[in-house]
Amino acid sequence: MSEAAKTDADEAALRAEIVRLNKVVQALMNRAERSMNIGESDFNLFQTTIMLEEKVRRRTEELEAASRTNERTLRALRESEAKFHGLVEQSLVGIAIILEGRFSHANPKLASILGYSVDELSHLKLLDVVVEHERALVAEHMRKGLAGETRKAPCAYLVHRKDGTQADIEIACSLMHVGGKPALIVVMTDISERVQAEAAVQRLNARLQEMATQDALTGLFNRRYLEDAFERELIRAERHHFPVGVIMGDLDHFKAVNDTYGHQAGDSVLREFGRLLRLHARGSDICCRYGGEEFLLILPGMAEDKACERAEELRAAVAATPVTAGASTIRVTASFGVASFPRHGRTRDELMAAADNALYAAKESGRNRVRGYGGPPGIAPGFP
Ligand code: GH3
Ligand code: MG
Ligand code: MG
Repeated sequence: MSEAAKTDADEAALRAEIVRLNKVVQALMNRAERSMNIGESDFNLFQTTIMLEEKVRRRTEELEAASRTNERTLRALRESEAKFHGLVEQSLVGIAIILEGRFSHANPKLASILGYSVDELSHLKLLDVVVEHERALVAEHMRKGLAGETRKAPCAYLVHRKDGTQADIEIACSLMHVGGKPALIVVMTDISERVQAEAAVQRLNARLQEMATQDALTGLFNRRYLEDAFERELIRAERHHFPVGVIMGDLDHFKAVNDTYGHQAGDSVLREFGRLLRLHARGSDICCRYGGEEFLLILPGMAEDKACERAEELRAAVAATPVTAGASTIRVTASFGVASFPRHGRTRDELMAAADNALYAAKESGRNRVRGYGGPPGIAPGFP
């Protein structure tokens, strides 16, 4: 029983007792009067009356004290209610009491989050404002809340505002009782801006990640990425016993391209070379711009002969694909050196040195050629 109800009950009991005592006193007085009238002196009766009168007086004092306590309790209750009301009404988070699924009370902040008036909300159910595909989740959250299985962490849901726009809302529920019925106190926070900011940060991070591993001109992986990825592929190859092909490619007389057509035209040639590398790569291949006009391909699972065939395909494609830059059509060729794990080396440095060596041999033997490491040409050049 609340403090106010208890004081009310005490006060009512006191009043009833005083009424009863007054009646007894009155009855005794009447009896004493009657006794006096008939001339009898009854000392005991007189004493009882005085005693009862004293009791009535004491009880009346107690009643007055109880009344004063009751008044103080009521005043304190009203003050606390006013404080609570102010707190809820001016809260910066949305607060609602959900009774039988409905907004039985909502504060102005909640109404403004959802774009309704407080009165309009009082005609809606909580699920009415939740987007359809999240209703089952919210219903389950409410069911758990009503069953007392309150989840400590708030959950985020998507809701409709009155104007049709959507908002990300964080909801936390706790159980209370209103008129003996279970209800939920729901605290809602609009986290739309936070969610948008988080998504923007994620996009930015992904972009930064890309920038850290990608070559801006060709979109291929950069040297930094290659160094890590090459190590990883060699570890996998050691463990699972498969070969790894390595192709190093370099444009022939590229300096002359720049000198003749300009640096921008040279950039277009590099971009086109990158596109051709990607075009001829499998999903598992790693294509990388290793230096200015030097490119490296890592081909997991590919033995030397297949890697030489791939390099030859590339060589032929570069030679057959003129690049248009402004008014000029530029024809370029490229040379390729091929090495293979584990035959020509087991470490990244050994394999790079072997591929570089083969590339040097391709350049030395006339350019526009493919050379395998150490031995005779892996594939005869398709160009004289
Ligand atoms: P080789 O056949 O022996 O490979 O001769 P090359 O002229 O291709 O080789 P060299 O190493 O002498 O010249 C490479 C040129 O690549 C010089 C440099 O200006 C150019 N280069 C490097 N990076 C870029 C770039 O990002 N854009 C452009 N346009 N040119 C670049
Ligand atoms: Mg070159
Ligand atoms: Mg070079």
